[in-house]
Amino acid sequence: MKPVKLRTKLTLIYTGIFALLLAGTIASFYNLFAYQLNKDLTEELGERAVAVRNFLRLEGDRVRLVYDATDPDVAYFVSLATRYYQIYDIGSGKLIARSPEMEATGFQYTPDEVRELVRGPRLSGIETEQVSLLVHNDLIRSAEGHLCLLQVGVSLEPKNAALRRLLQVGLWLIPVGLTATVGLAWWIGGRALRPVLDLASAAREISISRLDKRLPVRGAGDELDLLAGTFNEVMDRLEQAVRQMKEFTASISHELRTPLTVLRGEAEVVLSKPGTASDYRRVLESQLEEFEKLSQMINRMLTLARAEAGQITLARDSVCLADLAAAAAEQMEPLAASKGLSLTTACEGKVAVTGDPGWLERAVLNLLDNAVKFTPPGGRIEVAVRSENDTAVLEVRDNGMGISAEALPHIFERFYREDSSRSRAIEGAGLGLSLVEWIVRQHQGRVSVTSRPKQGSTFRVELPLADGPAAQPD
Ligand code: ADP
Repeated sequence: MKPVKLRTKLTLIYTGIFALLLAGTIASFYNLFAYQLNKDLTEELGERAVAVRNFLRLEGDRVRLVYDATDPDVAYFVSLATRYYQIYDIGSGKLIARSPEMEATGFQYTPDEVRELVRGPRLSGIETEQVSLLVHNDLIRSAEGHLCLLQVGVSLEPKNAALRRLLQVGLWLIPVGLTATVGLAWWIGGRALRPVLDLASAAREISISRLDKRLPVRGAGDELDLLAGTFNEVMDRLEQAVRQMKEFTASISHELRTPLTVLRGEAEVVLSKPGTASDYRRVLESQLEEFEKLSQMINRMLTLARAEAGQITLARDSVCLADLAAAAAEQMEPLAASKGLSLTTACEGKVAVTGDPGWLERAVLNLLDNAVKFTPPGGRIEVAVRSENDTAVLEVRDNGMGISAEALPHIFERFYREDSSRSRAIEGAGLGLSLVEWIVRQHQGRVSVTSRPKQGSTFRVELPLADGPAAQPD
């Protein structure tokens, strides 16, 4: 089944609601009007009945109306009130007198009906082909003392005609109103949905090769602007993720190609001429080293990929950052010494943080490894841990080659390596600092760097203290 368009749905909903409201209003208005007309008519009939009863004198079968005929108001009222009346003798059930208009209808009760009416309600109805009347029943006495039934009536025709007319108008109003509503709702729906359609067509233009495109934000500050804004934010993140993926793929290819070319070259050279067992051994040993570096790089890449995919859960132990940094420095000491670097530590006291000791050690080792790599022989490396207010601070400082201002904002990005010829000559895949940043972020901390070329770099890691400011050095 073809899905119903939102515009059609909105039109149907608006029209349905309006139809219900219109029908309800017309029905309520009709009932209220009918009730009011009935009330007025009943009151008027009551007044006429009282007047007829007061002005009428019954002597035998002769009826006289006694009133001030010089007063035009009274004369008019009496003529109205006596338009429909009839009098029956209750004892015999015979008709004694009636108005000419009543006589013209030819309507007459049987004696039994007359007795029935005396016991019945004060108001009743008379329905003939010519007229339909609301009748007021009353008892009067003739001059001779006979008890008689006096009926005074009023025509229901004006009331019925008014209600008929109202119903006609209402029945016309429904189709006319509904047609107008359908048109209006269709138009409003179209106007309301236009920005949505605009957004859809703008979104259609976005493709993997055109990720820089954004949805237009109209500046109305409404829900659609919010939608477009949120979509654009998602696109920003997506664009960044795709860019990183592209860089990642390009970097992987680049990083893997160089060692593979070297390995292949070596193998080709060895195979091109006959060699001794020791030649082969030397080449294989050199290749083993390259294989080791390759597998290290792949391991780092996998770790980072797993970390960023949220597949790694960190322990939440209480860790003394000072002890941990001192132990890491001790591990790096032989490497630093072999490069002629002095590695000093200032990690006294207890600086407790909550986290995963293995991962924290890895972060410190990565920072130290960089300091060793990027500091020329004779240089100095210092590791310091202290607490500042409620923050544990770890600093790895070196007086090595430093980082250029252009490179500084990028060094925590995956595969980023400074492009200077000296940096390039130093081994690395540009993954170490990404991992440090991820580890620190997972511990609710932050890592920053200050560095000047040829003067050295200071990496500063800030982590929340385990017990807040209470965990001061002892
Ligand atoms: P890698 O060390 O494997 O190249 P990293 O992510 O650890 O990758 O570092 C990224 C880049 O940041 C390095 O290539 C280097 O250019 C720069 N860098 C990191 N640490 C230092 C440091 N202590 N001194 C100078 N440059 C550094």
